[in-house]
Amino acid sequence: MDFNFTPEQQLFRQSVREFADRYVRPRINEMEDEKDIPKELLDRIADQGFYGLRYSEEWGGQGGDNVMFAILNEELARCHMSVAARVMMQCLMGTEFINLFGTEDQKRDFLVPAIKGEKYGTMCMTEPAGGTDLGAMETTAVRDGDEYVINGQKSWITGAHAVDFYTVAAKTDPEAGFRGVDLFLVEKDLPGVEVGKKIDKLIAYASGCYDLYFNNVRIPADRLFGGEEGKGFTLLRNILNDIRVHTATLGLGIARAAYEESVEYAKQRVAYGRPIIKWQAIQHKLAKMRVEIDAAQLMIYYAAWRMDQGLPVNVEAATCKYFITEAVLRIVDDATRIFGAYGSSMEMNIQRYMRDSRWLLYGAGTQTMILNIIAAEIRKE
Ligand SMILES: Cc1cc2nc3c(=O)[nH]c(=O)nc-3n(C[C@H](O)[C@H](O)[C@H](O)COP(=O)(O)OP(=O)(O)OC[C@H]3O[C@@H](n4cnc5c(N)ncnc54)[C@H](O)[C@@H]3O)c2cc1C
Repeated sequence: MDFNFTPEQQLFRQSVREFADRYVRPRINEMEDEKDIPKELLDRIADQGFYGLRYSEEWGGQGGDNVMFAILNEELARCHMSVAARVMMQCLMGTEFINLFGTEDQKRDFLVPAIKGEKYGTMCMTEPAGGTDLGAMETTAVRDGDEYVINGQKSWITGAHAVDFYTVAAKTDPEAGFRGVDLFLVEKDLPGVEVGKKIDKLIAYASGCYDLYFNNVRIPADRLFGGEEGKGFTLLRNILNDIRVHTATLGLGIARAAYEESVEYAKQRVAYGRPIIKWQAIQHKLAKMRVEIDAAQLMIYYAAWRMDQGLPVNVEAATCKYFITEAVLRIVDDATRIFGAYGSSMEMNIQRYMRDSRWLLYGAGTQTMILNIIAAEIRKE
């Protein structure tokens, strides 16, 4: 067993950290105020080759593995969660269905430009009435000759305003519950696609979540992923574990930032004539943070490594997503206590970590549903 990162992985982590410090960090305040990410910054990220990190060289990607992708996500989230979330959307949820199930033409027309940053994509599952219960979805896709006609409303769609195409979940068989859901590739500039209101939210100010409407949107029938109706849920299952593991990496990035800044602050802040790090109550908070970060790192990179070996990760993906979500909430809470009043100052990063860490509660499935998945695996053992 070798738990060390390879020299190549360490070098990659260093280069992502330097990139984030140089190009993302100086713009955090601007992005938080504007509640958006400048296109120019997203394009600069494309120039680094990050969007194609996990995709095959055949399509212009870097051919990297899940461990490398986890490093990218962790380092970006250590700097700014909103940017990390949008990058993960572009690298994974927004493009993976094309990569796995798209036709050659779709890969050429959407995946290749997405890897270059010439086109952006996002995933549209959630509706105003709910995100967890897929079977209750109301958006429909009705076959009409060589086309499908899509009608419905999506909600909470990350980057909906700024992308070029969507992977849209819609019911082809409204009577079949979640088995009647299929996935479609829909371009944003088609007639009937309308970006609705921006959702004002506590979490990840700059990630940009929007309502999205589909009014009689006509798409060619070959934009149905999987080639036949009734396969949507099966296709989705293929990438859920990836989404869970990599969502956890975002939590690890925030946890690490909160911990590192807490250590620095505790060394400098003086109370009763000594730096507060000399007080055992503060030391214990830092020690508990460190324990959870070390545990989370092992769980996440073990799950990523298993994916790279082609081993099953149903349990590992769910356990690491569950663990880091709960751990990061405890870690940022302790960080705000160490910072005292400054933990709530909008001028400090800590309040942002406190808000952004809550994204993990919803991304890749709520904690309740993750526990259900772990329980289902236990029942099979
Ligand atoms: C910042 C942000 C970005 C997002 N980006 C996207 C995006 O890009 N694309 C997208 O499609 N969605 C996106 N979402 C939506 C996200 O995927 C949903 O929030 C998530 O799926 C949960 O759905 P919901 O919020 O409707 O909660 P609901 O499904 O309404 O659930 C509410 C509560 O009920 C619980 N619950 C539900 N069913 C059960 C059950 N059977 N047993 C016990 N408890 C249950 C849930 O665990 C939860 O606690 C985003 C959300 C946020 C906050």
